[in-house]
Amino acid sequence: MSKIAFIGLGNMGGPMALNLHKAGHHVAAFDLSASACEKLAADGVAIAASAQAAVADAEIVVSMLPASAHVEALFLGGEGKAGLLEHIRAGALLIDSSTIAAATSRKVAQAAAARGIAMIDAPVSGGTGGAIAGTLTFMVGGAPADLERARPVLEKMGANIFHAGEAGAGQTAKICNNMLLGILMIGTSEALALGVANGLDPKVLSEIMRRSSGGNWALEKYNPMPGVMETAPASKNYAGGFGTDLMLKDLGLAQENAMAVKAATPLGGLARNLYAAHSLAGHGALDFSSVLKSLQKPA
Ligand code: NAD
Repeated sequence: MSKIAFIGLGNMGGPMALNLHKAGHHVAAFDLSASACEKLAADGVAIAASAQAAVADAEIVVSMLPASAHVEALFLGGEGKAGLLEHIRAGALLIDSSTIAAATSRKVAQAAAARGIAMIDAPVSGGTGGAIAGTLTFMVGGAPADLERARPVLEKMGANIFHAGEAGAGQTAKICNNMLLGILMIGTSEALALGVANGLDPKVLSEIMRRSSGGNWALEKYNPMPGVMETAPASKNYAGGFGTDLMLKDLGLAQENAMAVKAATPLGGLARNLYAAHSLAGHGALDFSSVLKSLQKPA
């Protein structure tokens, strides 16, 4: 069993760290949020006093942070502050599962390599349900040997592990996937709102579309209409889940990437703008499936 430092215990990182603990690994967890730490401590996971203390004798460091700026500031430091890389021992393996810019991922990987620390980018798909169940999909960028070293740890948190390519490739695969997810959620919400405006029962319509050519992941696992799927964030006032602002970040990363390679992503661009307007309307902290609210008359 490995000594694992886990930094970032939010909606995703909390259950991921718990699964490593349950598998028998020696987990030292840390988050800037006291409530996130308390939640995990209640499940028996050891909480470190700081990120530095968490990584002090770790063989593996896992991070699950919101965005590029958080990952860069934590590991590389800045404004006179030393980065966490200076506290991680040489020979350790860093697994960053945050969804961030591929360029930032490569920058941190290079700085880590210069200190004798191996790194893979390993963003995930599967939502909070997948994080809790340990059935996430990992999209990995980095050296194949480093992925093999990480595999026994990733297997305790996920069911599918893909090697996408060199450093940063996991992030590129992830933003392609999330651009598609962001578009699908808007399309699914539009169709449901149209049916309900015509008097259809959203449960019946959801089942019809799920088993027809419109079937997709949102209808299978993450229905945006409250009351249709008990376990979905929509039925919990859109709390928890995957924040609108995080989806907005991912669609922004996809657009930046598309500009860099001159790719045409018209629906991705439109989706980014719809989530941006939804966030501006005050829904940034709600789960991204709440985009349905922007497409439906209030009850
Ligand atoms: P979250 O906002 O719930 O959690 C992020 C946590 O990081 C917070 O608890 C925050 O306090 C902590 N944090 C920030 N800076 C820190 C630092 N310097 N040191 C320690 N802790 C710090 O976000 P989340 O939903 O868990 O998502 C995390 C990442 O996973 C994001 O990049 C997101 O895009 C990606 N993701 C999320 C989902 C989902 O369904 N929520 C699915 C796939 C991927």
